Amino acid sequence: MKIIKRRDFIAALGAGALGSAGLAACTREAPDTSSAPGSRRKKIRWKLVSTWPPNFPGVGTMVNELASMITSMSGGRLEVKVFGGGELVPALQVFDAVSRGTAELGHGAAYYWKGSVPAAQFFAAVPFGMTAQQMNAWLYYGGGIELWRELYEPFGLVPFPAGNTGVQMGGWFNREINSVEDLRGLKMRIPGLGGEVLRRAGGTPVTLPGSEIFTSLQTGAIDATEWIGPYNDLAFGLNKAAKYYYYPGWHEPGSTLECIVNKSAYESLPEDLKAIVSAACDAANVRMLSEYTARNAEALQRLRDEGATEIRRFPEPVLDKLRGHSEEILEELTASDPVVAKVRDSYRSFYRRAHAWHEISEGAMQDARSLP
Ligand code: CA
Repeated sequence: MKIIKRRDFIAALGAGALGSAGLAACTREAPDTSSAPGSRRKKIRWKLVSTWPPNFPGVGTMVNELASMITSMSGGRLEVKVFGGGELVPALQVFDAVSRGTAELGHGAAYYWKGSVPAAQFFAAVPFGMTAQQMNAWLYYGGGIELWRELYEPFGLVPFPAGNTGVQMGGWFNREINSVEDLRGLKMRIPGLGGEVLRRAGGTPVTLPGSEIFTSLQTGAIDATEWIGPYNDLAFGLNKAAKYYYYPGWHEPGSTLECIVNKSAYESLPEDLKAIVSAACDAANVRMLSEYTARNAEALQRLRDEGATEIRRFPEPVLDKLRGHSEEILEELTASDPVVAKVRDSYRSFYRRAHAWHEISEGAMQDARSLP
């Protein structure tokens, strides 16, 4: 696949498609692969394409931080320039753009690529799956990253965890959800596997870009929407368009975000710059989760103080129903794809052990603190 791409690239040069300015830019921006003495001081310029709107609070601003961490940690030897969704390539073409080398780095969420890589969603979020803390444990210490690298290898990509939103919210509803029956006919903006689960429960999932959510909810074009959590949801004004705010975000229990690196660009780096890219991604991963915890807590307090929103837990029978459908869908995916089966085996066995530990640690502590 990469050979074909390279041939296309050479053909494009031959046909003059890039023009002399394009060729000069390619030459100037090619990573330094020289081993000559003094080459370590040469400046390397990389592009980072992101799936998020430019400077979007949290996800977008952390991408800017990631780029500036790599630039400053390398003393300017590896300079990273950020392009938000749509600025250099369309948001949902980040995976392909980094794979073919249009940009050296990309930032997004692995479940966006499930159309071409169905097993990818396990590296972002699956309904009723692992939390941020458990995802990090699996990725860093449970063989997750190795599996992830194996999965992206044919695409010429090296993935790193580089952000996490923590548990998301169930969403904003203009209808009360008191029973499983209330899901029937519910028109809700909810992408990915969560949407398929809702469909099986009788609802109608819709996929809308962030920019269209508020108006669709306000005009009644949709009955409900999920987005992220209080921090980002209030930034969109969703509390002005719906009364009920349900939890928990069963469909996104701890979404991991990824930084993908073009493999040949990565391998051409000296060892210290490779370590810097990796450490900056680790830093973005922990910082984003911390930012979301802090900002979500502030925004939740603001919502409670304003008093116009009813914050409710989904009734247990509703969660049971959704959990049942999630398991069915995952079983079907596993049966139809051996790669999904391999990733799910690792994910599920890690999840069971981590869950058992967290039941008597995090969970028990949370319950103990909630006692009157
Ligand atoms: Ca979401």
